[in-house]
Amino acid sequence: MTRQTETSAHLRAHDYAWLVARWKKLAARERWKMGEFAEADGLPVYAVEPRRLPANDAPALYLSAGIHGDEPAATEALVSWAARRARALARVRFLIFPCLNPWGLLNNNRRNAVGIDLNRGYLREDVPVITAQKALVAGRTFDAALMLHEDYDAHGIYLYELPSVKPFWGERLLAAGARHVPCEPRAKVEGRTCRKGLIRTRITPGEMPEHPEAFFVAFGPSRRSLTFETPSEFSLTARVRAHDAVLDELLKLATRG
Ligand SMILES: [Zn+2]
Repeated sequence: MTRQTETSAHLRAHDYAWLVARWKKLAARERWKMGEFAEADGLPVYAVEPRRLPANDAPALYLSAGIHGDEPAATEALVSWAARRARALARVRFLIFPCLNPWGLLNNNRRNAVGIDLNRGYLREDVPVITAQKALVAGRTFDAALMLHEDYDAHGIYLYELPSVKPFWGERLLAAGARHVPCEPRAKVEGRTCRKGLIRTRITPGEMPEHPEAFFVAFGPSRRSLTFETPSEFSLTARVRAHDAVLDELLKLATRG
């Protein structure tokens, strides 16, 4: 992408219709299936996956962005990365959620139109988009799930890795992102120990009464649960590049076998 097209893309980072149009064009080009699996606050919510699945032993990835609408680098990076890496993605069983909270993205709001933080809603039964997402995911398994986020309080990039299978991938993912945005220097983030941007703590289902997507995937379909965060006060270009680099590294780690 040239600097000029990159700038114009970033100026429209909250334009949901445009985000969907780019995904639709990409899905048509690559013959991916882009299905509307829910309606949220009057807007369609989509999932993207291959129409023809690669071999059974192909790595399986769950990628998600835009559950918080005030985190536009995540949704922006995911669409541009998927377009750039389409050929490599042909070897992956992927399920991509381009934007789980379209009203939030349009309104630059963390929550949905009725004030619910969807990322605290995975045990709730009164949030239709989450109910529909769970139904879509049911019965599937993934080698890794990566949730893309941003944080206004952050001073650098950081990553939650819920420890499960080894080798852990956190250090490699952060090193990739840190080529564009430095790692979080604080030793504690949201009350958890953070070492050079890495928050790796064990969790139990009862630990938080309101489950985020990271818990949903960790106790459900995915062997790895990774949540990447960029600092919202940094430039959008740098944040998008950090997400992009982390996605690239994840793809590399997953396809390495
Ligand atoms: Zn978030």
